[in-house]
Amino acid sequence: MSTPIKQTSCCADTFEPGILPLQEALDRILDAARPVTGFEHLAIRAALGRVLYTNIIALTDVPPHTNSAMDGYAFSSDQFPEQGAQEFSVIGTAYAGQPFTRQPGKNECIRIMTGAAIPPGADSVVMQEQVETLGDRIKIGEGHRRGQNVRLAGEDITAGEALLKRGTRLRAAELGLLASQGIAEVCVYRRPRVAFFSTGNELCSLGETRGDNAIYDSNRYTLFGMLSELGMELIDMGVVKDRRDAITEALQCAANDADLVITTGGVSVGEADYVKEALQSSGKIDFWKVAIKPGRPLVFGQLADALFFGLPGNPVAVMVTFEQFVKPALKRLTGETDGVPLRLQARCLMTIRKRPGRTEFVRGILERDNCGYWTVRSTGAQGSGILSSMSRANCLIVLPESSGSVEIGEDVEVEPFSP
Ligand code: AMP
Ligand code: MG
Repeated sequence: MSTPIKQTSCCADTFEPGILPLQEALDRILDAARPVTGFEHLAIRAALGRVLYTNIIALTDVPPHTNSAMDGYAFSSDQFPEQGAQEFSVIGTAYAGQPFTRQPGKNECIRIMTGAAIPPGADSVVMQEQVETLGDRIKIGEGHRRGQNVRLAGEDITAGEALLKRGTRLRAAELGLLASQGIAEVCVYRRPRVAFFSTGNELCSLGETRGDNAIYDSNRYTLFGMLSELGMELIDMGVVKDRRDAITEALQCAANDADLVITTGGVSVGEADYVKEALQSSGKIDFWKVAIKPGRPLVFGQLADALFFGLPGNPVAVMVTFEQFVKPALKRLTGETDGVPLRLQARCLMTIRKRPGRTEFVRGILERDNCGYWTVRSTGAQGSGILSSMSRANCLIVLPESSGSVEIGEDVEVEPFSP
C-alpha cells in the first residue's frame, strides 16, 4: 500500500512555451462552446435525459385539493379534546378520488384515507394508530394540533409559478413533475451531433483480421461509450490512415455534418502526426498543449462551425481528456445550464510522486473505511496506455498544478466516475 508510484520523468512538461494551464484551456473551450440552436417536441418519456428548450410554467396546483396525508379520521380541530379523551361518531368515509361532502357536526368525524380530499368543515386528521375504535364510534386523546396530517392544495406547486427552467436536464423527478401537471409533450434541444475517427496506420477495426504489426482500435469504442452515455448523436467515421490528405479530407467531411469533431492519435510531434497540420489547413487551432498528465498534446480548435478536439492516441489519455475537456464542451452544446462535476475529498492511502507545474490525474480506487471516511489509493502503474487500470478504477485523483508529491494520509481531491 505504501509503495510509491513509479513515474518516469517527462521532459519539457514545465516551463514549456505555449503550454496552457488546465483552467485556462477549459475557459477557452467553454468560451467557444455554444448551445445548438435546433429543437424538437417529444413525448415526456422520450425526453428523459434531454435538456428543456423552453421555460415551463405550472398549469395547476399540486396537489389540486387539500387532502389527507394519512389513513385516519378527519376532524374539525375545534372539537379536539383539550384534556382527557373524547368519543366521536363516524358519519362516513372519504376515499382518494371519492370525496365525502357532508360536514361533520358536534362530536362527529369522518373516516378518511390517504389522498382523499378533506371534507368541508374538517381541517385536521388523526392517524388511525392514535385512535381507539369502539364499533362505529372512536375515541381520541389530547395533544392534537390544528392542520395536522393535512396536505394543502398547491403546497407542492402553485399554478402560475415557474416549474422548470430552460436548460434543465430532464431526469426522473422532472418527468414526474411534468406528468403531475398533465404535460405530455415538451420542447427540448436537439441532440448534438458528434463525428469521431481514429488515426493510425497500425489500427484495425473489430471484424478485420489483425496483421502482425497492427493493434485493435480501442479508442473508438471508449468514445462510443462515453458519447452514448451523454446522449449524443454519433457519426462514427472509422479509422483514417496517417496521411495528411486523408486526415484533411476526413476532417472536412466531419465538419459538414457535426457540431463537434473528435479525433484520436496523431497530435504529438512524431513524423506521422498530421492532425494539427490538417486542422491548420481546414480550420483554426486555438491551442495544442495543456499542462496535464496524461494528455499533454491536445489540440483544440474550430472546423467551420464545429468545435474540434484532437485527443492523444494513448487510450487512457483519450478517456481523461474527454472527461476533462470534451464533456464540459458537450454539456454546453446540449443547452444544459448547470451541473458541476462531483468532487470529493478523500484520504490518500499511499505516496504519489509528483512535481509542481502540471495537473495530474491518477486512476484511483475510492472506498469508505470502517469509520465512514472516504479513502483512495492508486490502481498502480500509471502509463497512459494501461487501459485495464481505467477499468479497475472508480475515480480519478486530481493533483493540482501547484502541488508536489502526496504523502500517505494526506487529503486529495477525487473525481468519481459516474455510476
Ligand atoms: P499517437 O498519439 O498516434 O502517437 O499514439 C500514441 C499511442 O497510442 C501509440 O502507441 C498508438 O499505437 C496508440 N493508439 C493510437 N490510437 C489508438 C487507438 N485508436 N486504439 C488503441 N491505441 C491507439
Ligand atoms: Mg498515431
